[in-house]
Amino acid sequence: MKVAFHTLGCKVNQYETEAMREQFAAAGFEPVDEKAFADVYIINTCTVTNLADRKSRQYIRRMKKKNPDAIIAVTGCYAQISPDELAGLPEVDIVAGTGEKGNILDYVTEALRLGGNSRTAQVHIKSRKQLCEYQDRGIITSMESRTRAYIKIQEGCDRFCTYCLIPFARGQVRSRNPREVIAEAEALIGKGFKELILTGINTALYGSEEDFAEKYPDFRPELSGVEKILAEIEELSGDFRIRLSSLEPTVVDGDYAQGLMKYSRLCHHLHLSAQSGSDHVLRLMNRPYTRNDYLDIVRRLRDSDPNYGITTDMIAGFPQETPEDFADSLKLMEEAEFGRVHVFPYSKRPGTTAASMDGQIPPQIKAERAAELIRKADETAARFLAGCIGEKRTVLFEEEEGGFFTGYTDNYIKVYVPAFGAAGLLNSFKEVRLLEIYKDGMKGEI
Ligand code: SF4
Repeated sequence: MKVAFHTLGCKVNQYETEAMREQFAAAGFEPVDEKAFADVYIINTCTVTNLADRKSRQYIRRMKKKNPDAIIAVTGCYAQISPDELAGLPEVDIVAGTGEKGNILDYVTEALRLGGNSRTAQVHIKSRKQLCEYQDRGIITSMESRTRAYIKIQEGCDRFCTYCLIPFARGQVRSRNPREVIAEAEALIGKGFKELILTGINTALYGSEEDFAEKYPDFRPELSGVEKILAEIEELSGDFRIRLSSLEPTVVDGDYAQGLMKYSRLCHHLHLSAQSGSDHVLRLMNRPYTRNDYLDIVRRLRDSDPNYGITTDMIAGFPQETPEDFADSLKLMEEAEFGRVHVFPYSKRPGTTAASMDGQIPPQIKAERAAELIRKADETAARFLAGCIGEKRTVLFEEEEGGFFTGYTDNYIKVYVPAFGAAGLLNSFKEVRLLEIYKDGMKGEI
């Protein structure tokens, strides 16, 4: 039986797809490429914007056309938030919410036993209240890359930013058992992975639930948040580095971020979602920091390393965003000199507080503001890269493309080194001098 997986959205979804893939393979299914003909298609969806929902529906239709007899199982955040919408699509056989990913194998097996696809979709959803225990899926070590591996350490969010559906889609904050995390890190290092990326829905909330200290009393009680697990992984032996997939300024401040500089294996790069540079809009978003708090984190990190890489997300056209608020966002981008920015025009998500706010911005203005943010992002990224010319940074080489070996610096710049005469670079660390801006990164020499 052939099974294909398609993932939309964040790194946590990618990790969870790997977990499902391993589970299906262990049960005797043959995982195939997502574009191949398969008997079962598993679609792991995202619902962060309307566009993400639309992409999931398009993919579902495309796969059903490829094989009209295939079982189509849809899981992920879109399935959790809009199960009826998905169950109403004639192509869909199984809808399983975020707390049901571990059970999809059983649901698919049952559907196959009953003779394949049916007219009515089976729906399996747990409520937010039921999404309260971390569901461990065992040790996951088969990543798409041979070099970088994700480790999921945490699930859920309790911040309720007014535009965001994630706390509803992912449930309460719960941390993975630290011993499981360490066992997975050791297994990945043993398999030769050189970069471990700690990921979660709101990674900064690791260990923050009330009963964490009760469950794991000996586990670094003197440390808080993600440091609890970072300190342990830092001490493992092997040739590897650590990256945090993101930290939320809704949780961490400048002191905390500066404290992370003591971990020598930790890359000098943080994805810190700003979302807006205006205090007025941040208040409307229910994000409890100001632009100054945000810039304080940036300053503290760059005091230690002037080319510390910071990437971010920005929303254009949040309800009631004035031209002055928007100008503050552009200014923040100037000041923070981001290495990369993901820009989203504000997307109204039903059920969130922001969806029913007065002062919704017309689509045309949202699009214009998003385009301007993208222009500014290109400009600041070019300035950030120009500031790195002549610097030596550690690159982990991952691929060979178009006559170059490519990899990322610790501060998250893609580096291109001519492949000629540079044999044996893949999956190794090298000190590289950065020479000039090239494509989406920089050219370098070893
Ligand atoms: Fe959503 Fe805010 Fe939680 Fe991030 S911190 S997942 S934006 S609610």
